[in-house]
Amino acid sequence: MIIYMDGEYLPKEEAKVSVFDHGLLYGDGVFEGIRAYNGRVFRLNEHLDRLYDSAKTIDLDIGMTKSAMEEVVLETLRRNELKDAYIRLVVTRGVGDLGLDPRKCQKPTIFVIATGWGAMYGDLYEKGLKAITVSVRRNPADALPPNVKSLNYLNNILAKIEANYKGGDEAIFFDTNGYIAEGSGDNIFIVKNGVILTPHTLNNLRGITRLVLLEVAAELGIPVREQNLGYFDLYSADEVLVSGSAAEIAPVTLIDGRKIGTGKPGPVASQLIAAFQTKTQNEGKEIYK
Ligand code: PMP
Repeated sequence: MIIYMDGEYLPKEEAKVSVFDHGLLYGDGVFEGIRAYNGRVFRLNEHLDRLYDSAKTIDLDIGMTKSAMEEVVLETLRRNELKDAYIRLVVTRGVGDLGLDPRKCQKPTIFVIATGWGAMYGDLYEKGLKAITVSVRRNPADALPPNVKSLNYLNNILAKIEANYKGGDEAIFFDTNGYIAEGSGDNIFIVKNGVILTPHTLNNLRGITRLVLLEVAAELGIPVREQNLGYFDLYSADEVLVSGSAAEIAPVTLIDGRKIGTGKPGPVASQLIAAFQTKTQNEGKEIYK
């Protein structure tokens, strides 16, 4: 496996991060998780835009143009001879001292990992996921905005730990106002009476797959509404779905032990998943030209 790291393409064993890197010491940095399908990187521009916006928000100068970064992602895939892949692009504040002051970090650490990784949830795309609503709240946007895809994922990890203990495949976060926010690593959708409902995007990550799902829904003529949602909407839903670059689009059939709809993946989920697959197989930035 070849890793891009700070201007070089290195064997995995040689790609190392300093113990003084603030990405490690403080979770100070940003990242993206991206997929490539069938020789094309899916929604690469959108991922790069979000990476640079996240960096801007935390006052982190990536020091590389978006088009140079795009080339790094494509070249990492080429060096690993990958056509279908999961790509992790990480930019940390860089090496500093033991204090948290980011001004001590001279330049960011940038690395890209590209690896073959199939369906994250295995056979659960057919069976449906078991989800757990967790007691830990999504960090509020006025503390650490979930819109920033930062390396600080402890809030998400706490949610995942709770779901793990309670036997769930995924956690569902509420925000501090009691509205549904998102999953630990994906956005959430409810289907009710033929309409797709999804939370506003203040207290969750503005998922790129979320936008693809909304695009696909429009193409299929399925109406979508963004609104505040609570327990009532979740438990009384006809169908529930989650979306993410890693998770793709997955149906949720059991929440807190309660069956959602019939307890089986529903018709809207299968329509969306099929249309999503067509898109991912046919669109994106070509890796090998
Ligand atoms: N929310 C969270 C907390 C996530 O980690 C992810 C995965 N990046 C998502 C939502 C989905 O975002 P995307 O579709 O851009 O991968």
